[in-house]
Order: sequence, then structure tokens, then C-alpha cells
Amino acid sequence: MAAYRAGSAALIGRPNVGKSTLLNAIIGRKLSIVTPKPQTTRHRIAGILTRPEYQIVFVDTPGLQDRHRRVLNQYMHRAAVSALHDADVLVLVVEALVFGDEDAFVLERARRTGRPLIAVVNKVDRVRPKSRLLPYLTSLAARAEFAAVVPLSALKRTHVASLVDEIAKLLPESPPLYAADQLTDQTRNFRAAEIIREKLMLRLQAELPYGVTVTIERFAEEGGQAEIDAVIWVERASHKAMVIGAGGALLKEVGRSARLALNRELGIRAHLNLWVKVRERWADSEQALAALGYHA
Ligand code: GDP
Ligand code: MG
Repeated sequence: MAAYRAGSAALIGRPNVGKSTLLNAIIGRKLSIVTPKPQTTRHRIAGILTRPEYQIVFVDTPGLQDRHRRVLNQYMHRAAVSALHDADVLVLVVEALVFGDEDAFVLERARRTGRPLIAVVNKVDRVRPKSRLLPYLTSLAARAEFAAVVPLSALKRTHVASLVDEIAKLLPESPPLYAADQLTDQTRNFRAAEIIREKLMLRLQAELPYGVTVTIERFAEEGGQAEIDAVIWVERASHKAMVIGAGGALLKEVGRSARLALNRELGIRAHLNLWVKVRERWADSEQALAALGYHA
């Protein structure tokens, strides 16, 4: 019998190419939050896929960028770079028919690690006509020594299994790294905070989504019921009113959709209490970030 294989595969790429959607499609659970806005993912998020022959620890990462003006962006960059250097296999995610400077930047960082590299061409569901895909795949394949180039749609969950097969071939021999029933390394409180942040980011306009973060102050669970107290942190007093919305409408709507998502993702019946608080320019402060759960 062939030896068991186990290792990690980092999903890397510029913001918004669909890395988090892909992680969720592979694991079959909503582990990483997704919005149409770039820079939604702020942390390394592991999703664990266990099969009889192998175990792959997928690591979703914030988008790699070459500019980071704020301390929060530096934190996100460090999270992505550390995943890049810790992984056994790198999965460069790009968007079908697109390859710009930002993609080239990530490809170069990946190549320099010398790790096995697979290219995923995501969002092929949007390619019209389909004949435009083949020339793109050919030119992409010529950019580096990819172990494989896999076109797929994370959203429609097509050809995701081919990617898993290609990664499995590149894993080192190793016993499993996690228990067979473990799907993620994230704590329940972290996931709850992320779910609330997703619902907020979806509803906030313009730049404001990047200045909000969520902490869980209390999570009391008993017999499938959970009482959750969460704080939404904003950077300025004027942002507080925007998060609350006219007559409290926006906050109420965020609370409602977050509660439904918490029930679904965590298998609980949640009662959610939300507060909005100001911590001046928290995204510019190392100390504030640490206090709000951003641990390097
Ligand atoms: P990330 O920043 O790389 O993690 O990207 P996300 O997973 O957050 O996705 C960014 C946006 O692209 C979201 O609006 C997704 O719904 C969308 N998206 C992701 N994968 C696909 C796909 O395969 N097809 C299409 N049409 N949209 C996708
Ligand atoms: Mg993401």
C-alpha cells in the first residue's frame, strides 16, 4: 500500500481572484468569508481535507500586495507571506483572461520560494466565448514551470476535484497532521466574528468596510442555544452613525443576516447582541490590532 501523504497548500494571489470562494468550495463549508470587495480576508484560514490516502491543509490567505500603507495591511501581508513560506505546495489563483502586474508580482514571489507551484484559472464560468480560454491557458503555462494549470469555477464548483488530485500528487509522505473530523483550525469565536464582519462588509459603502472589525465579548452556549455579545469597532465617531444607519436600520439588518448565518454555519440557535464602538484609527496601531485579535 502506498504511504500516507499530508501537507499544506497555500492559496495565493492578488485580492479578489476567488481564493476564499475556492477554499469554501473545496471543503464544502463556508470557512472563509467572501464579499465582492477586495481585502475581505485578513487572516490565514486553514481548511482541512482528509481522504483515505492523503490529508491536505488548505491555507487561504489575504491577497498579496506590494503596497501597504496601514498597519492592518502590513499584518495581512505578513500573514500571506508566512503562508507562502510554510506551504508544501503553492496554488497561484488568477482570474480567467486576466494577468496583470499584481498577478506577476505574486507569481514572482511564489517562484522565488522554489516550492511546487500549481496555477488555478478561476472564474471560467464568466468566459465568453469559451474559445478564448485556450490561448490564455497556453500563455499562462509559459510563464513558469507549473506542475499543473487547472481551469475551474470556484463559484460553480466545477473541476475543483482535478485541483485536489494535482495537489495530492505533490504532497510529502507524512502521517495526517490533524484529526480526520477536523475541518478548520479556527476557533468558534473567530468564525463568529468573521461571519458578522462579512455581513457588515457586504452592506457598508465605499472605504468604510476596511475600517471595521469585530470582536466577540461573550459566547455562552447551552443546549444548542447561544447568547453572543459582539462589538463592531470603527475608527471614528462619524463612522459609528454610518454603521448604525438611519433609525438603526443597517445594524438591525446586519444583525439579522449574521444571526441566520451563525445558525447555519455553527449549527446553533443564536441570539446576537451587537454594539458599535470607536477605537480611533485602530487599523494604524500595532497595539490596537493585537487587542482586537490580530495576532502575528
Ligand atoms: P479573494 O479575495 O481572492 O478571497 O476572493 P473572494 O473569494 O472573496 O471572491 C471575490 C469575488 O469573486 C466574490 O464576489 C466572489 O463571489 C467572486 N468569485 C469567486 N469565484 C468565482 C467564480 O468562480 N466565478 C465567478 N463568476 N465569480 C467568482
Ligand atoms: Mg479572500
